[in-house]
Amino acid sequence: MPQNNSGTCTLVVTPIGNLSEISGRSLDILRCADVIACEDTRNTVKLLSHYDIHTHLITYHNFNEENSAEGIISLLREGKNIALVSDAGYPLISDPGYVLVQRLIEEDLPFTIAGSNNAALSALLGSGLDTTHYLFYGFLNSKPSAAKKQLEELKDFPYTLIFYEAPHRILKTLALMKEVLGERNACIARELSKVHEEYIRGSFSELLKKEEYRGEIVLVVEGKKKEAEDVEELLRQVRELTDKGMRLKEACEKVSKGTSYSKNQLYTLSAKE
Ligand code: SAM
Repeated sequence: MPQNNSGTCTLVVTPIGNLSEISGRSLDILRCADVIACEDTRNTVKLLSHYDIHTHLITYHNFNEENSAEGIISLLREGKNIALVSDAGYPLISDPGYVLVQRLIEEDLPFTIAGSNNAALSALLGSGLDTTHYLFYGFLNSKPSAAKKQLEELKDFPYTLIFYEAPHRILKTLALMKEVLGERNACIARELSKVHEEYIRGSFSELLKKEEYRGEIVLVVEGKKKEAEDVEELLRQVRELTDKGMRLKEACEKVSKGTSYSKNQLYTLSAKE
């Protein structure tokens, strides 16, 4: 259960160009937040000045992500509301934010997304799954035999998969995915940006324990896992670097270079150790 009295963190999608593209809700959140964590204050100040917003800014960028995430967690525990923005567009999509989302999920602190007009991207951000590379698949074929063929084509794909699915088909689809893709982590993101918004994270088996899922659904599925032997060696290299004082994120970035693992995948696996 989310912790009582904690503040809420909102990942706010900002315009990629024309400043008028921002949503009314996003402006309210930026205006009312206790703190806005941003990538580069110079860029965010341009947006805020345009709308006469004077909320306190702190930085959250690639080079301070871990420390800044811890600071944000402390502020949330004090009941402060925090907005996270990147320079433009969606946080976490080739932009900082992944480390914070991992920590929010670990600490069971509430967070939501504002300003998104795309269910797939909102679901990806909130899923906790790797955002470095992903494939948007949309709806699988409604015929199970055809859907099975489609999943077989996807089963070796190492990147996060995003599907749209109807609520009356979701359990059958999860069961078919478990059969074809094998056990994986996934997230059912339902009723996004509505009153009953919910992110339900777990393995296929865990998600299959529920009797029904209602409302509009996006299903986000972990990509194919790499060989266990390789990852053990990579995690050992990460530990070696962090033991020498390197920050975890930096170590994951360094070790991931030239491998098929992304820095985010190594970060998640290392944080679980
Ligand atoms: N064009 C839309 C977009 O950019 O997200 C998607 C349209 S598609 C016809 C409709 C499907 O998107 C739904 O069946 C559901 O899978 C997903 N969807 C749309 N709104 C959603 C929401 N608020 N929460 C979760 N899924 C949603």
